[in-house]
Amino acid sequence: MYDVAVLGGGLAGLTNAYLLAKVGYKVILFEKGNYPQHKVCGEYVSNEVLPFLKQNNLYPKNVRPSQINKFQLTTQTGKSVALTLDKGAFGISRFAFDDYLYQKCRDIGVVCLTKTKVHNCVFEDPHFNIFSSKGMYQAYYAVGSFGKKSNLDRVLNRHIKPEKSSYLGVKYHIKTDFSLNTVALHNFRGGYCGVNKIEGDLYNICYLTKGNNLKQSGSIKSMEMDVLFKNPYIKELFKSSDFIFNKPLIINNINFNKKQLIENYLITCGDTAGLITPLCGNGMAMAIHSGKLLAEIIIQNKARPDLRNEIQNIYSHEWNRLFSNRLKWGRKLHPLFGNYALSNAALALAKFFPDLAKKLISKTHGKSFI
Ligand SMILES: Cc1cc2nc3c(=O)[nH]c(=O)nc-3n(C[C@H](O)[C@H](O)[C@H](O)COP(=O)(O)OP(=O)(O)OC[C@H]3O[C@@H](n4cnc5c(N)ncnc54)[C@H](O)[C@@H]3O)c2cc1C
Repeated sequence: MYDVAVLGGGLAGLTNAYLLAKVGYKVILFEKGNYPQHKVCGEYVSNEVLPFLKQNNLYPKNVRPSQINKFQLTTQTGKSVALTLDKGAFGISRFAFDDYLYQKCRDIGVVCLTKTKVHNCVFEDPHFNIFSSKGMYQAYYAVGSFGKKSNLDRVLNRHIKPEKSSYLGVKYHIKTDFSLNTVALHNFRGGYCGVNKIEGDLYNICYLTKGNNLKQSGSIKSMEMDVLFKNPYIKELFKSSDFIFNKPLIINNINFNKKQLIENYLITCGDTAGLITPLCGNGMAMAIHSGKLLAEIIIQNKARPDLRNEIQNIYSHEWNRLFSNRLKWGRKLHPLFGNYALSNAALALAKFFPDLAKKLISKTHGKSFI
C-alpha cells in the first residue's frame, strides 16, 4: 500500500512526487512513456518557478538553459515589435528537463514505473486501486497528472466540452542564427509560431494551428508552405535553419476548455486540471506550481484518508485562487493571435502602449513562488 500514487510523470507529477517523497511519503509514479523523451512544447519556462526550483535543488543548472528577457511579436504581413520581459524565462528542452526531475525523484525514493500505462483508477474507500499495464497497485491518495490528453479522460468519463475548432501542435528542434535571449511569437492565419533558444546550440520552434489549415493543405509540409510562410519571418526561419528531427513532433485535438479538478476523489494538477493557451508561455510553470501546491496540502494534512474531503476543499480553493483567472485571460487573449485584424491590433497595442501590453501579459502569469 502506497501513500500516494501519481498518474503521469510530466512536470506536475514529477514535482508532486518529489516533494511528497522528500518528507518520507511512500510514493509510486506511473509514466506510460520513458525518460528522456521529447514532447510537443515551446520549452519556454517562465521565471516565476525559479526561486522554487533553486530552493529545492530542482533547477537543471548543469544543462545550461538559455536565459530569455526579450519578446518579439510579428504579424502575418511581416510587421514586428519588440518588448522587454519583466520576469523573463529560461529555455530548456523537455527531453532534458523532465529527465532531470525524474532522476531527482528516483534519487529521493519515488518508485517510478516507466513504460507503464494506467488503464483505470478506482476509489474504494479508503484507498484507490490503480490498474496498470504492470498490474494492480493500491494507494491512499491518487494524483491525476496525466497531461492535456489521456486515455484516462475517457476511462474516468470526464466531461470536457469539445473545442469549437480542433488545434494541432507541431514542434522541431533546430540550429539557427537567432537572438540568444528573445522569444518570438510569429502570427499566421489560424495560428502562431514560437521560437526561442533552449540548451546548447539548439532552438525550439513550436506552433499551434487550427486543424482546418492541415485539412486544407493535406500535409504538414504543404501547410507550412501555404500558410505559415506567408509570414516572412517564419519563411526565413525555416529556410535558414538546420532541422534536427527527421520529422516534426505532433499533437492533435488540443482542448483548452474548463476541466473538473477532482474526479471521484482523484485530485488533478498540471494540464489535467486545466490547460492554458500556449501563447501565455506558462503552462509548465503552472504544472510545477500546482504539483507543489497539492503536495503541500497533502503533507499539511498528513494524508489522512479521513481528511480526504478537507484536502480536496483546500486544494480547490487554492487552485482557483492561483490559476483560474490566468486560464480565463489565456482564453480571452487566444483569439488575438492567428487572426489578421486582431493580431495587427495586438501589435499596435504593443508598439504604442507597451506598458498596457505588459500588463496584459502579466495577467496570464503568476507571482514567483518558493
Ligand atoms: C503547442 C504547445 C506549446 C506549448 N508551449 C509551452 C511553453 O513554451 N511554455 C510553457 O510553459 N508551456 C507550454 N505549453 C504547455 C505545457 O506543455 C504544459 O502545460 C505542460 O507540459 C504540463 O505539464 P503536465 O505535467 O501537466 O503534463 P505533461 O507534461 O503532458 O505530462 C503528462 C504525462 O502523463 C503521461 N500519461 C498520460 N496518460 C497516462 C497514463 N494513462 N498512464 C501513465 N502515464 C500517462 C504522459 O506520457 C506524460 O508524460 C505548450 C503546450 C502546447 C500544446
